[in-house]
Amino acid sequence: MSRIAYVNGRYLPWREAAVHIEDRGYQFSDGVYEVCEVRGGRLIDERLHLARLERSLSELRIAMPMSLKALGIVMREVIRRNRVGDGIIYLQITRGVARRDHAFPAAGTMPSVVVTARNLDLAGNERIAAEGVAVVTVPDNRWERVDIKSVSLLPNVLAKQAAREAGAKEAWFVDRKGFVTEGSSTNAWIVTREGEVVTRPVDNGILRGITRTVLIEVIKAQGLTFKERAFTAEEAYGAREAFITSASMIVMPVVRIDGRPIGNGAPGLLATALRRDFHRHAESA
Ligand code: PLP
Repeated sequence: MSRIAYVNGRYLPWREAAVHIEDRGYQFSDGVYEVCEVRGGRLIDERLHLARLERSLSELRIAMPMSLKALGIVMREVIRRNRVGDGIIYLQITRGVARRDHAFPAAGTMPSVVVTARNLDLAGNERIAAEGVAVVTVPDNRWERVDIKSVSLLPNVLAKQAAREAGAKEAWFVDRKGFVTEGSSTNAWIVTREGEVVTRPVDNGILRGITRTVLIEVIKAQGLTFKERAFTAEEAYGAREAFITSASMIVMPVVRIDGRPIGNGAPGLLATALRRDFHRHAESA
């Protein structure tokens, strides 16, 4: 089946889906994106993802090019046309096409909108979760506004590649004080020996993950002890469990950090239970 992409008002076959070379996303990474999970053909936590999209756009002073309702219709049409059952939808909005000049283009320049979707190998992901993944740490060398979900992802790209080359699935960024900020495309969590579930507070140093937001509700609903505080890589090495969260990975147990086994070196009980329970709390529409 050939894939279809939505590009600036049109549903195009994959081969024809393109943006102009002077698109500011291409020239300057001047744009934002969202990734939403699709499960059983339905969007997971759409409302929260679109609220974050609006915030990212507003922080960068990019106009929202269409209503959220219209965007919801486009997203569902892309899911339908690509026959996505379980997968992800990707949404990108840039400041549009204009003659290359760093400053903002003339008022009225239309932002560019691209929406794509694809199936994920759900069974394969479950097998990965049953084994757990390895993480390596890297210095956090990103700018100070990583709370904006911008397409400017070069440090994340390099960090993920460093992880791949070390045989790991994810890289955790560590700030100058030695505290873990987040993964290159995930939020970072530990469970302490005392059973506290810990993740870094949301400030400008991390992206406010939607999976993170919903998982905090799951953790509280289950009566688990939750602490929003920074933790170091050393604390993580000695933790009972560690895991990462994102829309495409849900809750993924971490079994090694920088080559050191976490807990008994197998996926943690809590992480596994939270993965199982996540969708009971997520919104599906
Ligand atoms: N942190 C970063 C840097 C990310 O890129 C992502 C997702 O892409 C996340 C965290 C997790 O966010 P979400 O749970 O909304 O997918």
